[in-house]
Amino acid sequence: MKGQGRLFVLSGPSGVGKDSVLEALFQRMTGVARSVSATTRVPRTGEIDGKDYHFITRTQFEADIEKGLFLEYAEYAGNLYGTPLRGVQEQRAAGNDILLKIEVQGANAVRKIASDAILIFVEPPSLSVLEGRLRNRATDDEALIQARLERARTELECVRWYDYRLVNDDLISAADTLRAIIVAERSRVRA
Ligand code: 5GP
Repeated sequence: MKGQGRLFVLSGPSGVGKDSVLEALFQRMTGVARSVSATTRVPRTGEIDGKDYHFITRTQFEADIEKGLFLEYAEYAGNLYGTPLRGVQEQRAAGNDILLKIEVQGANAVRKIASDAILIFVEPPSLSVLEGRLRNRATDDEALIQARLERARTELECVRWYDYRLVNDDLISAADTLRAIIVAERSRVRA
């Protein structure tokens, strides 16, 4: 019997490797759709509009908030990010699982709006490992790296209200664990 699709929320500090874990996950399993967020941030090299994000202006974003088009939204490092409501509703109604990759304020909002959401927090093995990964990425300047690290310290404390902790010490085992969580949740009977 196929009911409503599940809503998975994946968070974790910037640079923890959420995208790599998700890429490895999607090579291992099907049936999970990825929500494409809207953002006012400028695209990074290689990012594609409509695939990585819907890149929109702040004016457009604010108009969309007014129209109630977002499931949740948050300001992060000076930019707005939001989950379009419609895609989530449509996927779930069609019985497909959907996954949101969002920061902690947004995850907290989803937890309150959708009490059946399954929240997964990706942790780095340590803060110094995270710092190394942010530097290796080399897409951000020093001030931005420091801002992201400071924010990471605060975000790491939020793990306590998530359902699952996923330590990304090894990409493949992290992706395997994420897959196991999704498979187990698909078999869940009691809420
Ligand atoms: P980045 O600029 O590195 O792509 O994303 C910055 C942060 O915003 C990341 O933690 C990312 O997961 C989060 N984010 C991306 N889309 C959304 C969204 O729709 N809502 C919220 N609340 N956060 C998002």
